Amino acid sequence: TAQASDIEKVLQVIETLGFRGHTLPGENRTAIGVTGNRGSIDPAHFENLPGVADAIRVTKPYKLISKDARPEKSIIKVGNATIGGPELAIIAGPCAIENHKQLFTTAETIAESGAKFFRGGAYKPRTSPYAFQGLGEEGLKMMVEVRDQFGLNIVTEAMDEHGVDAVEKYGDCIQIGARNMQNFSLLRYAGKTRKPVLLKRGLSATLDELLLAAEYIMAEGNYDVILCERGIRTFSNHARNTIDLSIIPAVHRMTHLPIIVDPSHGTGHNYMVTPLARAGAAVGADGLIIEVHPCPEEALCDGAQALTPGQYLELVRQVQKIHDAVSEPVSNKNETEEKAMAESVPF
Ligand code: PEP
Ligand code: MN
Repeated sequence: TAQASDIEKVLQVIETLGFRGHTLPGENRTAIGVTGNRGSIDPAHFENLPGVADAIRVTKPYKLISKDARPEKSIIKVGNATIGGPELAIIAGPCAIENHKQLFTTAETIAESGAKFFRGGAYKPRTSPYAFQGLGEEGLKMMVEVRDQFGLNIVTEAMDEHGVDAVEKYGDCIQIGARNMQNFSLLRYAGKTRKPVLLKRGLSATLDELLLAAEYIMAEGNYDVILCERGIRTFSNHARNTIDLSIIPAVHRMTHLPIIVDPSHGTGHNYMVTPLARAGAAVGADGLIIEVHPCPEEALCDGAQALTPGQYLELVRQVQKIHDAVSEPVSNKNETEEKAMAESVPF
């Protein structure tokens, strides 16, 4: 096995060649990904260094997100909890932070449900410039109070570099919204922080585009990325978006990153949220993000899809049961299959 000094040596060689090394520790081996190279690098540079088992050329367009880089699933630390481990992560709260009372009433319900993550937008990407845009930094400060009072970890969106700085300061996880999934300079900027990033799938992004967006963040050195399926645009018009649940097993097959499902934006309708949350848990998502409002009809943003506190508590009860029912056998089987696959695929 490789010593710390062996790893250091490989990183030095990579740097000498003018590239960037990314250390991805795993259970049985440490992978060191190389980025910054345009063409292929001669494996001879590394092959004979102490502790090096193999020098593998990755021909796929992504490197750090792939299982070649890290065969085990990533368990991402978010505040004092994790996403990607055996538990189903529940992130819940209002679409937007509106006022102290709305925020704290909702937070009380989220804490009561046993969820460990609280969401709430301070910077809202609204279709109309005249719609409520969020409370900004004032809202983030209220979120800090929520964390202090309820022990919930704070997930909140950043729309620009200023927002990333603010969320890095006050929050526990930086959400990059669907509309910014291909804002490459913003992705790079978030990649320079050391807070985990929740990356939502773009409104018409393919799987490859989503994964390459994650790769942008990781290429800057931030490996703590959580993906989110939040529905895409299709010809179908009975729901706000079409939740593409087949992306969950596809992501699990290709990457070590966790992926969660957003049945709120994915459907846009209160009555569809619980059924699609159940489906998300059943398909093996690592978590769910759910919008909750104490009085949905009065919400300043996304009221039609908000669950009442009572509906939300019932949803959590149901999805926990489904998660328990599907998690063990499915994940074991997938791992065995993945190992067999990894051994048979040349790269
Ligand atoms: C949100 O989470 O409130 C949001 C704006 O989501 P999306 O970026 O997926 O539309
Ligand atoms: Mn919303």
